[in-house]
Amino acid sequence: MSDRDYYEILGVSKNADSDELKKAYRKLALKYHPDRNQGDKEAEEKFKEAAEAYEVLSNPDKRKIYDSYGKEGLGGAGRGFNRSEDIFGAFHDIFEEFFGFSQTSRRQRGPVPEPGADLRYDISISFIDAVKGCEKEIEYGRMESCDLCNGTGEGSESKRNVCGVCNGRGEVIRSQGFFTISTTCHACKGAGVIISNPCEKCRGEGKIKQRHKLKVRIPAGVDNGSRVRIRGEGEAGKLGGPSGDLYLFIFVQSHEFFQRQGNDVYCEVSITFTQAILGDTIEVLTVDGNKNIEIHPGAQPGEEFRLKGLGAPDLRGFGNGDQIIKIIIVLPKEINQRQKELLEEFAEIEKEKNAGFFKKIFSHFEGSGKRKDGASH
Ligand SMILES: [Zn+2]
Ligand SMILES: [Zn+2]
Repeated sequence: MSDRDYYEILGVSKNADSDELKKAYRKLALKYHPDRNQGDKEAEEKFKEAAEAYEVLSNPDKRKIYDSYGKEGLGGAGRGFNRSEDIFGAFHDIFEEFFGFSQTSRRQRGPVPEPGADLRYDISISFIDAVKGCEKEIEYGRMESCDLCNGTGEGSESKRNVCGVCNGRGEVIRSQGFFTISTTCHACKGAGVIISNPCEKCRGEGKIKQRHKLKVRIPAGVDNGSRVRIRGEGEAGKLGGPSGDLYLFIFVQSHEFFQRQGNDVYCEVSITFTQAILGDTIEVLTVDGNKNIEIHPGAQPGEEFRLKGLGAPDLRGFGNGDQIIKIIIVLPKEINQRQKELLEEFAEIEKEKNAGFFKKIFSHFEGSGKRKDGASH
């Protein structure tokens, strides 16, 4: 607990009236609200300190004791708050006024707007659509605001009566031994009010299931497992609450020629052994259509050629991946007589070249051997 003076904490004079106190506290609660100061320990302390000061000074009895005897006079009465949640509970009227309904107990107000649920839609797209981006039309079922009652759930001349079962609290409290258990009121489903004449189309729910068609834009560079969020296309909220979001889960179909690895696109290209030895210009399929690439003389099996920037674009904007072409060299299974003659001639030349090559190595070993012999004798 803080040792600072409560009036000083709230920044008001000793004879501030209840309106001034409320105003001062509201200002501090807004400033040090945990939602606005995530993880800030000091702000959290200030938030609790202000709540403690306001809790005492807004209560005339406690304030009188505090004015005469200070904090000691209050004993356990100026209890302070350990958890921020307790503060929202204690002063929910104040938080309700300026933060909307989210942190307050909805029990005492009857039905309040609620955000709609998020939805998931699985979509399968082609390899090229994933790399290049695409637009698709999808159709799915979702809860939409009822057009007959404008989402209020009320029929004509309907009244909202306080629920007699829970007295508008939306929950029912029962005692069971030492415990009290609170459950959602079954009569009003927690709303606290009963609609006397519910809307006939939505039966008082304010929402109805509808088929919905939507054109969606899938960005270039998505991959298997990517999720695309489309704001506001989920289920409708309740009583004017915001709609949920739609999440597209992307499944990319495999391609007969390409494979993705991150933003790079891999493929294999077969060439003949003469193309590999002599070099050639070949046509290769890329995600941008056919492109010519140069195979240099003496290309080896498994050698890779890289086409810069012909991969998939990075979703976070870090440029494009590459296309990587792996060379497969195919040997002929059958050849004709003329080819055979040429190859035999080729083989003959190879033999001579190799013989010369081995002779050189052999003479090198012979030479070194002789020197050794010479040295030992
Ligand atoms: Zn309706
Ligand atoms: Zn009820």
